[in-house]
Amino acid sequence: MTEPGATVGEPLTWVFQGVLTPRDKQEDDYKYLRFNLPPGYGLIEVSYEYSRDSRSVLDIGMLDPEGSFRGWSGSDKPRFSISASKATPGYVAGEIKPGPWTIILGLARIPAGGCSYRVVVKAWRHGEYLIGEHCFEESVAPQAARKPAVSKGWIKGDLHVHSHHSDGKHSIRELVDKALEQGLDYIAVTDHSTNSQFYEIMRIRDPPVLLIPGVEVTTYHGHLNVWGGSWFDFRRRRLEDFVKLVNEVHEKGLIVSVDHPRDLGELCIGCDFEFKQLRGFDAVEVWNGPWFVKNWEPLAWWHSLLSEGLRVTAVGGSDYHGGEGSFVRLSEPTTWIRVDSPSVRGVISSVKQGRVSISQSPSGPLLELKAYSDSRVFETGDIVDTNHGEGLKIMVEAQGGENATLRLITSQGVEETIRVNSKVFKHVKELRVKQGCMFARAELGWFTDPFSVSLGEDDTVFALTNPVYFKQVSSGSCSR
Ligand SMILES: [Zn+2]
Ligand SMILES: [Zn+2]
Repeated sequence: MTEPGATVGEPLTWVFQGVLTPRDKQEDDYKYLRFNLPPGYGLIEVSYEYSRDSRSVLDIGMLDPEGSFRGWSGSDKPRFSISASKATPGYVAGEIKPGPWTIILGLARIPAGGCSYRVVVKAWRHGEYLIGEHCFEESVAPQAARKPAVSKGWIKGDLHVHSHHSDGKHSIRELVDKALEQGLDYIAVTDHSTNSQFYEIMRIRDPPVLLIPGVEVTTYHGHLNVWGGSWFDFRRRRLEDFVKLVNEVHEKGLIVSVDHPRDLGELCIGCDFEFKQLRGFDAVEVWNGPWFVKNWEPLAWWHSLLSEGLRVTAVGGSDYHGGEGSFVRLSEPTTWIRVDSPSVRGVISSVKQGRVSISQSPSGPLLELKAYSDSRVFETGDIVDTNHGEGLKIMVEAQGGENATLRLITSQGVEETIRVNSKVFKHVKELRVKQGCMFARAELGWFTDPFSVSLGEDDTVFALTNPVYFKQVSSGSCSR
């Protein structure tokens, strides 16, 4: 970050200070501080501090005089700056227009005793400052995303990764190197609530892995990933705000995933999804980071959604942020996506369709499920017309799952459990599907009670598939 000494001349300075109370938070999750920038200024620097001793968390971001979003850094950066050509990661460089600029304070956590804050804004005239190179990112006009050197079929990667554009430790170039080391075909960079990552991605020419621009819309009431390179406002707190978000995403032809809907208490602000009655989203992140971090909760919720007859794709994501000593590793879990084209659009389309399988790491095990009916083959995400249900065969193939238990699960419960006894293992099960039987999916793992769909801390999942769905035509249920 530029030190004040790197500038010359006296800046214009605004100081905002006060105390935020739980009542403020009750009224709105955000507080707005405005300053009127006269013409002729080219660099804005914002620094802020607050009473961190009392468990307070204050986030920060900025809007320009036209109300355009210019960046967000959560509570990760105590200082940031924006100029026409450069900005701190998390912020978007561009014209510094005169007029009313807005600082957004995010009231992430306000303790009962309140939280005192002080925000200092400084602005320098054009030509009065010299910007240090490090810690700044130049933004350039977006270019088309580039295709990686992988072809159609299964591609493996990570749908949920953070960079230095939010609270991650690595630049996107560093993340690409790490993805290559792991043998991944793609990574999605889903920084919290901001859009400056899109610009860094666009500047990486011919990346050796497919780079998917994304954003984790990080509200205090739930986190949702949207892939594709469009930014969506994170200032949402009521059910109708999330209904709107789903519609806005779909209007852009993109898809939205509910991230890590599990209760981690005080450990993570807004991480559990508050509005589980919401419908219409495309995916659920059923596996976020290591399995043991209560991933059985999102898995159980997803199973209940499927049992309602909904089509929702299960995805995984490491939520990798980098940093020494973290138990979260890139691509653990790995999300395998069966694509027709290895492109951002191809990935979005396949995730929407449910052509997704999740495993604990890039080395597998890879679990595939197909349904065969009247010589037709259905993949996960497909709807099997159960007029042809008599003699329907479900084939599950596990690669690298020796000694684990394979379970075939339908909306009626666990249909069958099988011990996997070879490196490449195939199992075929004949299923008669009647009304009430919505889907069939598979899991591989160690289960304390192999016939119980709901899992807990003593169970370990190594891999899981999305379902094939059954078209509802006649009465009855799933039966052997
Ligand atoms: Zn999150
Ligand atoms: Zn995240």
